[in-house]
Amino acid sequence: MAKRDYYETLGVSRNASEEEIKKNYRRLAMKYHPDRTQNDKSAEEKFKQIKEAYEILSDGRRRAAYDQFGHAGVGAEGAAGFGGMGGMNFGDIFGDIFGDIFGGRGGAGASQRGSDLYFTLEISLEDAVFGKTAEITIPTLISCEECGGSGARKGAAPITCSECRGQGQIRIQHGFFTVQQTCPVCHGKGRLIQDPCSQCQGRGRRKQNKKLSVKIPQGVDTGDRIRLSSEGEAGEMGAAAGDLYIQIQVKPHTLFERDGKNLYSEVPISFVTAALGGELEIPALKGRVKLSIPSETQTGKVFRIKGMGAPSVRGGDAGDLMCKVQVETPVNLTARQKELLDQFEKTMSADNKHNPKSSSWFNKVKKFFEDMK
Ligand SMILES: [Zn+2]
Ligand SMILES: [Zn+2]
Repeated sequence: MAKRDYYETLGVSRNASEEEIKKNYRRLAMKYHPDRTQNDKSAEEKFKQIKEAYEILSDGRRRAAYDQFGHAGVGAEGAAGFGGMGGMNFGDIFGDIFGDIFGGRGGAGASQRGSDLYFTLEISLEDAVFGKTAEITIPTLISCEECGGSGARKGAAPITCSECRGQGQIRIQHGFFTVQQTCPVCHGKGRLIQDPCSQCQGRGRRKQNKKLSVKIPQGVDTGDRIRLSSEGEAGEMGAAAGDLYIQIQVKPHTLFERDGKNLYSEVPISFVTAALGGELEIPALKGRVKLSIPSETQTGKVFRIKGMGAPSVRGGDAGDLMCKVQVETPVNLTARQKELLDQFEKTMSADNKHNPKSSSWFNKVKKFFEDMK
Protein backbone atom coordinates (compact mmCIF):
# COMPACT_ATOMS: atom_id res chain seq x y z
CA MET A 1 0.00 0.00 0.00
CA ALA A 2 1.41 3.38 -1.00
CA LYS A 3 2.03 5.49 2.04
CA ARG A 4 0.34 8.84 2.30
CA ASP A 5 2.33 11.90 3.02
CA TYR A 6 2.62 12.35 6.79
CA TYR A 7 1.86 16.06 6.67
CA GLU A 8 -1.20 15.40 4.59
CA THR A 9 -2.31 12.67 6.99
CA LEU A 10 -2.23 15.10 9.88
CA GLY A 11 -3.68 17.92 7.78
CA VAL A 12 -0.80 20.32 8.43
CA SER A 13 1.59 22.23 6.19
CA ARG A 14 5.24 21.22 5.79
CA ASN A 15 6.41 24.06 8.00
CA ALA A 16 3.83 23.44 10.74
CA SER A 17 5.00 24.05 14.31
CA GLU A 18 5.27 21.23 16.85
CA GLU A 19 2.28 22.70 18.60
CA GLU A 20 0.19 22.62 15.44
CA ILE A 21 1.18 19.04 14.69
CA LYS A 22 0.30 17.99 18.19
CA LYS A 23 -3.00 19.80 18.12
CA ASN A 24 -4.09 18.25 14.85
CA TYR A 25 -2.88 14.83 15.94
CA ARG A 26 -5.01 14.99 19.06
CA ARG A 27 -8.05 16.16 17.20
CA LEU A 28 -7.77 13.44 14.57
CA ALA A 29 -6.81 10.73 17.04
CA MET A 30 -9.91 11.50 19.10
CA LYS A 31 -12.06 11.44 15.98
CA TYR A 32 -10.77 8.13 14.62
CA HIS A 33 -10.05 6.37 17.89
CA PRO A 34 -11.36 2.77 17.74
CA ASP A 35 -13.17 3.21 21.02
CA ARG A 36 -15.31 5.82 19.33
CA THR A 37 -15.73 4.38 15.85
CA GLN A 38 -16.91 0.89 16.88
CA ASN A 39 -15.25 -1.64 14.57
CA ASP A 40 -15.12 0.65 11.57
CA LYS A 41 -12.14 -0.88 9.71
CA SER A 42 -11.41 2.18 7.59
CA ALA A 43 -11.40 4.41 10.68
CA GLU A 44 -9.04 1.99 12.39
CA GLU A 45 -6.69 2.12 9.40
CA LYS A 46 -6.85 5.88 9.41
CA PHE A 47 -6.09 5.95 13.12
CA LYS A 48 -2.94 3.87 12.56
CA GLN A 49 -1.79 6.22 9.82
CA ILE A 50 -2.35 9.24 12.04
CA LYS A 51 -0.44 7.64 14.89
CA GLU A 52 2.45 6.72 12.58
CA ALA A 53 2.62 10.19 11.04
CA TYR A 54 2.69 11.76 14.46
CA GLU A 55 5.44 9.45 15.74
CA ILE A 56 7.65 10.67 12.93
CA LEU A 57 6.71 14.33 12.76
CA SER A 58 6.80 14.88 16.52
CA ASP A 59 10.42 13.70 16.66
CA GLY A 60 12.72 16.44 15.35
CA ARG A 61 15.41 14.05 14.06
CA ARG A 62 13.02 11.73 12.27
CA ARG A 63 11.02 14.62 10.91
CA ALA A 64 14.21 16.07 9.37
CA ALA A 65 15.02 12.67 7.83
CA TYR A 66 11.52 12.42 6.43
CA ASP A 67 11.67 15.94 5.02
CA GLN A 68 14.89 15.08 3.21
CA PHE A 69 14.32 11.51 2.06
CA GLY A 70 10.56 10.89 2.37
CA HIS A 71 9.33 7.53 3.65
CA ALA A 72 12.66 5.95 2.75
CA GLY A 73 14.38 8.24 5.24
CA VAL A 74 12.41 6.88 8.17
CA GLY A 75 11.69 3.42 6.76
CA ALA A 76 13.93 1.29 8.92
CA GLU A 77 13.18 3.06 12.13
CA GLY A 78 9.57 3.44 11.23
CA ALA A 79 9.17 -0.25 10.46
CA ALA A 80 10.75 -1.21 13.76
CA GLY A 81 8.43 1.11 15.57
CA PHE A 82 5.24 0.06 13.88
CA GLY A 83 5.86 -3.60 13.17
CA GLY A 84 3.37 -4.70 15.76
CA MET A 85 0.73 -2.18 14.84
CA GLY A 86 -1.84 -4.76 13.77
CA GLY A 87 -2.00 -6.36 17.16
CA MET A 88 -1.46 -3.32 19.24
CA ASN A 89 -3.35 -2.72 22.38
CA PHE A 90 -5.67 0.19 21.81
CA GLY A 91 -6.16 0.62 25.51
CA ASP A 92 -2.56 1.78 25.83
CA ILE A 93 -2.95 4.28 23.05
CA PHE A 94 -6.09 5.52 24.64
CA GLY A 95 -4.12 6.14 27.85
CA ASP A 96 -1.46 8.02 25.84
CA ILE A 97 -3.74 10.41 24.13
CA PHE A 98 -6.53 10.85 26.56
CA GLY A 99 -4.47 10.75 29.73
CA ASP A 100 -2.60 13.64 28.23
CA ILE A 101 -5.59 15.66 27.18
CA PHE A 102 -7.56 15.20 30.33
CA GLY A 103 -4.62 15.74 32.61
CA GLY A 104 -4.59 12.16 33.83
CA ARG A 105 -0.82 11.91 33.55
CA GLY A 106 0.20 15.41 34.35
CA GLY A 107 0.10 16.04 30.62
CA ALA A 108 2.79 17.57 28.49
CA GLY A 109 2.05 21.18 27.82
CA ALA A 110 -1.68 20.74 28.23
CA SER A 111 -3.37 22.97 30.74
CA GLN A 112 -4.95 20.97 33.48
CA ARG A 113 -8.65 20.65 34.03
CA GLY A 114 -9.72 21.48 37.58
CA SER A 115 -10.48 18.72 40.07
CA ASP A 116 -13.95 17.38 40.63
CA LEU A 117 -15.32 18.17 44.07
CA TYR A 118 -17.50 15.99 46.26
CA PHE A 119 -19.83 17.48 48.82
CA THR A 120 -22.03 15.54 51.20
CA LEU A 121 -25.33 17.27 51.82
CA GLU A 122 -27.37 16.17 54.82
CA ILE A 123 -31.07 16.79 54.40
CA SER A 124 -34.23 15.93 56.31
CA LEU A 125 -36.55 13.17 55.14
CA GLU A 126 -39.18 15.82 54.32
CA ASP A 127 -36.75 17.67 52.04
CA ALA A 128 -35.70 14.42 50.40
CA VAL A 129 -39.30 13.48 49.70
CA PHE A 130 -40.63 16.88 48.63
CA GLY A 131 -37.45 18.38 47.19
CA LYS A 132 -36.02 21.80 47.97
CA THR A 133 -33.46 24.34 46.95
CA ALA A 134 -30.49 24.12 49.29
CA GLU A 135 -27.93 26.86 49.78
CA ILE A 136 -24.48 25.40 50.21
CA THR A 137 -21.02 26.84 50.75
CA ILE A 138 -18.06 24.90 49.43
CA PRO A 139 -14.38 25.69 49.82
CA THR A 140 -12.99 25.60 46.30
CA LEU A 141 -10.53 27.13 43.88
CA ILE A 142 -12.01 29.69 41.52
CA SER A 143 -10.45 31.21 38.45
CA CYS A 144 -8.68 34.50 39.29
CA GLU A 145 -10.75 37.43 37.99
CA GLU A 146 -7.75 39.72 37.79
CA CYS A 147 -5.83 37.67 35.19
CA GLY A 148 -8.70 35.60 33.80
CA GLY A 149 -7.00 32.47 35.11
CA SER A 150 -3.81 32.83 33.06
CA GLY A 151 -1.66 33.64 36.10
CA ALA A 152 0.15 36.41 34.22
CA ARG A 153 -0.09 40.09 35.13
CA LYS A 154 -2.73 41.96 33.19
CA GLY A 155 -1.47 42.67 29.68
CA ALA A 156 1.32 40.08 29.92
CA ALA A 157 0.85 36.57 28.52
CA PRO A 158 2.58 33.40 29.73
CA ILE A 159 5.56 32.50 27.56
CA THR A 160 6.45 29.10 26.12
CA CYS A 161 9.01 27.30 28.29
CA SER A 162 12.31 27.30 26.41
CA GLU A 163 13.72 24.31 28.29
CA CYS A 164 11.11 21.92 26.88
CA ARG A 165 9.88 24.12 24.03
CA GLY A 166 6.36 23.99 25.43
CA GLN A 167 6.21 20.19 25.57
CA GLY A 168 6.27 19.98 29.36
CA GLN A 169 8.54 16.96 28.97
CA ILE A 170 12.24 16.70 28.29
CA ARG A 171 14.34 13.79 27.06
CA ILE A 172 17.43 12.84 29.00
CA GLN A 173 20.14 10.56 27.62
CA HIS A 174 21.00 7.73 30.02
CA GLY A 175 23.71 5.69 28.31
CA PHE A 176 21.86 4.00 25.45
CA PHE A 177 18.45 5.00 26.67
CA THR A 178 16.49 8.15 26.28
CA VAL A 179 14.28 8.82 29.27
CA GLN A 180 11.37 11.20 29.16
CA GLN A 181 10.89 13.38 32.21
CA THR A 182 8.64 16.18 33.37
CA CYS A 183 10.36 19.47 32.59
CA PRO A 184 11.95 20.77 35.82
CA VAL A 185 11.64 24.39 34.72
CA CYS A 186 7.91 24.62 34.02
CA HIS A 187 6.89 21.49 36.01
CA GLY A 188 5.14 20.01 33.00
CA LYS A 189 3.01 23.01 32.18
CA GLY A 190 4.95 23.95 29.05
CA ARG A 191 4.45 27.61 29.84
CA LEU A 192 6.12 30.03 32.19
CA ILE A 193 4.87 33.17 33.81
CA GLN A 194 7.53 35.86 33.97
CA ASP A 195 5.36 38.60 35.35
CA PRO A 196 2.91 36.93 37.73
CA CYS A 197 -0.51 38.29 38.56
CA SER A 198 -0.40 39.98 41.95
CA GLN A 199 -3.81 38.69 43.01
CA CYS A 200 -3.10 34.96 42.61
CA GLN A 201 0.74 34.99 42.62
CA GLY A 202 0.72 33.40 39.18
CA ARG A 203 -1.43 30.42 40.10
CA GLY A 204 -4.38 31.55 38.01
CA ARG A 205 -6.70 30.32 40.73
CA ARG A 206 -7.48 31.33 44.25
CA LYS A 207 -9.24 29.79 47.24
CA GLN A 208 -12.74 30.88 47.89
CA ASN A 209 -15.83 29.71 49.70
CA LYS A 210 -18.31 29.51 46.90
CA LYS A 211 -22.03 29.84 47.62
CA LEU A 212 -24.33 27.79 45.44
CA SER A 213 -28.04 27.10 45.21
CA VAL A 214 -28.64 23.43 44.59
CA LYS A 215 -31.99 22.20 43.41
CA ILE A 216 -32.76 18.92 45.17
CA PRO A 217 -35.37 17.04 43.12
CA GLN A 218 -38.19 15.37 45.03
CA GLY A 219 -37.68 11.72 45.85
CA VAL A 220 -33.90 11.69 46.32
CA ASP A 221 -32.46 9.22 48.77
CA THR A 222 -29.21 8.53 50.59
CA GLY A 223 -26.52 7.66 48.05
CA ASP A 224 -28.04 9.68 45.19
CA ARG A 225 -25.63 12.06 43.52
CA ILE A 226 -26.35 15.35 41.81
CA ARG A 227 -23.74 16.52 39.31
CA LEU A 228 -23.22 20.23 38.77
CA SER A 229 -21.21 20.60 35.62
CA SER A 230 -18.17 22.93 35.84
CA GLU A 231 -18.87 23.90 39.46
CA GLY A 232 -15.75 22.06 40.71
CA GLU A 233 -12.29 23.58 41.03
CA ALA A 234 -11.16 25.98 38.33
CA GLY A 235 -8.53 24.57 35.96
CA GLU A 236 -4.92 25.66 35.92
CA MET A 237 -4.04 28.55 33.65
CA GLY A 238 -7.58 29.04 32.47
CA ALA A 239 -8.28 25.34 31.71
CA ALA A 240 -11.81 23.95 32.12
CA ALA A 241 -13.23 23.61 35.63
CA GLY A 242 -14.02 20.25 37.19
CA ASP A 243 -17.51 19.16 38.19
CA LEU A 244 -19.17 19.27 41.58
CA TYR A 245 -20.91 16.17 42.89
CA ILE A 246 -23.47 16.59 45.65
CA GLN A 247 -23.83 13.39 47.62
CA ILE A 248 -27.20 13.10 49.35
CA GLN A 249 -27.40 11.87 52.92
CA VAL A 250 -30.88 11.71 54.45
CA LYS A 251 -31.05 12.22 58.23
CA PRO A 252 -32.97 9.68 60.34
CA HIS A 253 -36.54 10.68 61.17
CA THR A 254 -38.24 10.25 64.55
CA LEU A 255 -41.44 8.73 63.12
CA PHE A 256 -40.66 7.24 59.72
CA GLU A 257 -38.20 4.85 58.25
CA ARG A 258 -37.70 4.74 54.55
CA ASP A 259 -37.01 1.83 52.25
CA GLY A 260 -36.88 3.01 48.65
CA LYS A 261 -40.23 4.60 47.86
CA ASN A 262 -42.05 3.24 50.90
CA LEU A 263 -42.21 4.76 54.34
CA TYR A 264 -42.69 2.69 57.47
CA SER A 265 -44.06 3.75 60.83
CA GLU A 266 -45.26 2.05 63.96
CA VAL A 267 -48.62 2.99 65.45
CA PRO A 268 -49.53 1.97 69.01
CA ILE A 269 -53.22 1.15 69.57
CA SER A 270 -55.15 0.17 72.71
CA PHE A 271 -56.29 -3.41 73.11
CA VAL A 272 -59.86 -2.15 73.12
CA THR A 273 -59.46 -0.48 69.72
CA ALA A 274 -57.74 -3.63 68.50
CA ALA A 275 -60.66 -5.76 69.65
CA LEU A 276 -63.56 -3.50 68.71
CA GLY A 277 -62.06 -1.61 65.78
CA GLY A 278 -62.01 2.14 65.37
CA GLU A 279 -60.67 5.05 63.42
CA LEU A 280 -57.39 6.77 64.18
CA GLU A 281 -55.63 9.84 62.92
CA ILE A 282 -52.04 9.05 62.18
CA PRO A 283 -49.18 11.21 60.92
CA ALA A 284 -48.00 11.03 57.33
CA LEU A 285 -45.22 13.21 55.90
CA LYS A 286 -47.81 15.44 54.25
CA GLY A 287 -49.97 15.79 57.38
CA ARG A 288 -52.64 13.73 59.12
CA VAL A 289 -54.39 10.77 57.53
CA LYS A 290 -57.22 8.56 58.76
CA LEU A 291 -56.54 4.92 59.42
CA SER A 292 -59.46 2.51 59.97
CA ILE A 293 -58.66 -0.34 62.31
CA PRO A 294 -61.02 -3.27 61.74
CA SER A 295 -62.25 -5.20 64.76
CA GLU A 296 -60.16 -8.21 65.87
CA THR A 297 -56.90 -6.66 64.67
CA GLN A 298 -53.82 -8.49 65.98
CA THR A 299 -50.63 -6.77 67.01
CA GLY A 300 -48.00 -6.49 64.26
CA LYS A 301 -50.57 -6.15 61.48
CA VAL A 302 -49.37 -3.79 58.72
CA PHE A 303 -51.79 -1.42 56.98
CA ARG A 304 -50.86 0.10 53.67
CA ILE A 305 -51.86 3.66 52.86
CA LYS A 306 -51.47 4.08 49.11
CA GLY A 307 -49.47 6.94 47.68
CA MET A 308 -48.39 8.35 51.03
CA GLY A 309 -44.77 7.26 50.65
CA ALA A 310 -42.04 9.01 48.66
CA PRO A 311 -42.19 9.85 44.96
CA SER A 312 -39.48 8.28 42.86
CA VAL A 313 -36.77 10.58 41.59
CA ARG A 314 -36.82 8.49 38.39
CA GLY A 315 -40.55 8.96 37.84
CA GLY A 316 -43.46 6.54 38.21
CA ASP A 317 -45.95 6.12 41.03
CA ALA A 318 -45.23 7.35 44.53
CA GLY A 319 -44.62 4.76 47.24
CA ASP A 320 -46.91 3.85 50.12
CA LEU A 321 -47.01 4.46 53.84
CA MET A 322 -46.88 1.20 55.76
CA CYS A 323 -48.32 1.38 59.27
CA LYS A 324 -47.55 -1.42 61.66
CA VAL A 325 -49.90 -1.46 64.63
CA GLN A 326 -48.74 -2.45 68.06
CA VAL A 327 -51.35 -3.41 70.58
CA GLU A 328 -50.41 -1.96 73.90
CA THR A 329 -50.95 -3.57 77.28
CA PRO A 330 -52.51 -0.96 79.59
CA VAL A 331 -50.47 0.11 82.63
CA ASN A 332 -51.22 2.00 85.89
CA LEU A 333 -54.67 0.42 86.20
CA THR A 334 -57.00 1.53 89.01
CA ALA A 335 -58.71 -1.01 91.32
CA ARG A 336 -61.94 -0.45 89.43
CA GLN A 337 -60.32 -1.15 86.07
CA LYS A 338 -58.68 -4.31 87.39
CA GLU A 339 -62.04 -5.45 88.69
CA LEU A 340 -63.65 -4.89 85.30
CA LEU A 341 -60.89 -6.86 83.61
CA ASP A 342 -61.36 -9.71 86.07
CA GLN A 343 -65.07 -9.74 85.30
CA PHE A 344 -64.28 -9.67 81.63
CA GLU A 345 -61.87 -12.60 81.94
CA LYS A 346 -64.56 -14.70 83.62
CA THR A 347 -66.80 -14.25 80.59
CA MET A 348 -64.24 -15.87 78.34
CA SER A 349 -65.10 -19.48 77.57
CA ALA A 350 -62.58 -22.18 78.43
CA ASP A 351 -62.30 -23.49 74.88
CA ASN A 352 -60.15 -20.54 73.76
CA LYS A 353 -62.51 -19.60 70.98
CA HIS A 354 -61.78 -15.93 71.70
CA ASN A 355 -58.05 -16.48 71.47
CA PRO A 356 -57.28 -18.22 68.18
CA LYS A 357 -53.54 -17.88 68.55
CA SER A 358 -53.51 -19.35 72.04
CA SER A 359 -55.73 -22.15 70.86
CA SER A 360 -53.41 -23.14 68.07
CA TRP A 361 -50.39 -22.79 70.35
CA PHE A 362 -51.89 -25.07 73.02
CA ASN A 363 -52.59 -27.68 70.37
CA LYS A 364 -48.97 -27.61 69.29
CA VAL A 365 -47.78 -27.89 72.89
CA LYS A 366 -50.03 -30.85 73.47
CA LYS A 367 -48.70 -32.65 70.41
CA PHE A 368 -45.11 -31.88 71.42
CA PHE A 369 -45.48 -33.63 74.77
CA GLU A 370 -47.37 -36.55 73.24
CA ASP A 371 -44.58 -37.13 70.72
CA MET A 372 -42.08 -37.15 73.55
CA LYS A 373 -43.62 -40.23 75.21
ZN1 LIG B 1 -4.44 36.18 38.74
ZN1 LIG C 1 9.34 23.37 30.36
